[in-house]
Order: sequence, then structure tokens, then C-alpha cells
Amino acid sequence: MDDGGYIIGVDLGGTSINAGAVPFGGGTVLGMRSLPTESQHGAKFVVDRMVGMIRSVIDDAKREGGFSDDAVRGVGLGSPGPLDRSTGTVIETPNLGWRNFPLRDLIANAIGLEAELDNDANAATLGEWWQGAGRGVRSLVGLTLGTGIGGGLVLDGEVYHGVSDAAGEIGHMTINSTGRKCNCGNYGCLEAYASGPAIAARAVEGREAGAASMLLDMVGGDFTRITAETVSEAILAGDGYAADVMRETATVLGIGVANLINLLNPEMIVISGGVTRAGDHLFEPLLAEVRKRAFRKAAESCRIVPSALGDMAGVVGAAAMFRIARFGPLDSPSPAR
Ligand SMILES: [Zn+2]
Repeated sequence: MDDGGYIIGVDLGGTSINAGAVPFGGGTVLGMRSLPTESQHGAKFVVDRMVGMIRSVIDDAKREGGFSDDAVRGVGLGSPGPLDRSTGTVIETPNLGWRNFPLRDLIANAIGLEAELDNDANAATLGEWWQGAGRGVRSLVGLTLGTGIGGGLVLDGEVYHGVSDAAGEIGHMTINSTGRKCNCGNYGCLEAYASGPAIAARAVEGREAGAASMLLDMVGGDFTRITAETVSEAILAGDGYAADVMRETATVLGIGVANLINLLNPEMIVISGGVTRAGDHLFEPLLAEVRKRAFRKAAESCRIVPSALGDMAGVVGAAAMFRIARFGPLDSPSPAR
């Protein structure tokens, strides 16, 4: 196989679009860029923005990497799902308001390159496995805590998609049968507690109930401006109430992670997203909950770690997904080479 050239990876999210040029054999991503999605302007706006970004990334790859015009192999697209990989269609994304949207072919035709589409969380998990925290492991679960909670499964070195491309919806694992209402319509999903907006909402509710905290001062007295990041900043500034909110978040996440460990016995779980900035305030109570609930043998053999690639994971993984779809299985080299 010719190992030269590069693949464009595009990570479409509800909040932002990231794109970059990923060398075919891995390594430094060129031309990395990020723009807000601004889906309120409609689907055509978002597609045009993605196409513009891809063109700019190709220009940068030529300039920075000395690549020729024909060095680009194609485009890997990660999008919120559910979606159909075979037709390249996004079936439904509540965050973008799209239904049965032929994203892959719209991008491929506009840019004149081959493209592949997969779920954004699958892509991020694949990226961490190929080039990030999960290098060299055989089985990995990825959890991305953002606008929602994305999940991805790499089992025995391959992304597990399920029979209809819907596997890995870890955010919609029920944690509490009579719990908080989720965006999906169900009650008590993990996402309804531990997504960014859910953490913010829980923090606001507690403040309204009279908890003493610096959170309100941090947002100029406006409850609606509290975000998960505000909660993380308040913790680092020593706010006890914010730490309580994070501990509750970690406990709920720990329940979900323990369920995953008991089900899959994975070698690693990678957690990404802005909330991981809370560091030990998140990971310590999470690990304590996992030890309480998961089978000991499985818990002891699973490493639970923060993402190594951050925002880059989805871009690297989308490119990896294109490579696998067109050129066959990929190895994840061990970092201790
Ligand atoms: Zn749900």
C-alpha cells in the first residue's frame, strides 16, 4: 500500500466544526482549524462552511506540508447521529435540526473528493485509539462530555457499529428510571445528568434552592449564564457547592462507567470534553464509584483516563475512519516503541 498523502478529517458538532489534514500513516495534523457551527443559519450554511474549511485545510497542507494537488486521498466526516454509513445520510440530529440529510454526497460533490461518514463519537474514540491515549490497546470505550454525551466502542481493534450503526449511545444509558428528562424523550439518561448543559442546569437548580456559592457572582447575577465551565472554574477557586455538583456528576458517570466495565471488560475508558478540566474533582469520585459497583477483576484491569488529543480526536478519527473504509484495517501502535 502507498503510505503517502493525507486525508481530511472533519468533525461536525452542535457547537463547532473542526477540520485538519491527517497524514495517511498518522502524525502531525496540518491546517487544523475550528469555526462555530451556527446551525441556526440552516443546513446549506453549515455545508458551505464545511466545504470552505476543507478547501482552506488543503491549501495549508500544500503550503505547510509541501503536498502536491493529488496528495489528498479523501474526506472523513464525523457527524452527530443516528446516521446511515452506507448511504452517507444523517438520519436525525436534534442539535442541528437535520433529518435524512445526505451530508456525505453533498460534501463529496462540492469538493470533488471521495468521502465517508460516521458518527462523531465513534470517530473521536477511533482517533484516541489510533493516535491518542488508547495507542496499543485492544479494546477501548470513549465518552465525550459536551453538548450531549457521545460514546464510541473500539473492540478488538475495530469500531463496533451494531446492526444498524446505532451502537455506543452511552449517553442514553438509563441511570435512574424515574430521573431527569433527557433530550431523547427518555427519563434518567446519563446525558440528562452529565452533559455540559445538564451540569449547568443542576448547578442552577441547587443555587435557586439557596445553596451558598460564588457561582452567581461569577456570571454577574445571571443564572442563565452558568455553564459547566463556570462550575469547573468555581471548583478550582475553592467553591464547595460547585465541588458538590461535580461530585454528583462524577457519581452518575461512575455508575455508567461501571455498567460499561461489567458489560465489556475493556482495557481502557477515555473521557474527553471540557468537564475533564475539573481533574481530580471529577476522576477521584468517579473511580471510587466504579470500584464500588464494577466487578473487581474487570475494574482493576481497566484504565480510566482523560483524552490525549482533545478537540483533535474527532478530526484524526474521521480521517482514520475514511482510511479503514477505503484501505482496510488499521493498527494502533503501542506508545512505548
Ligand atoms: Zn436520553
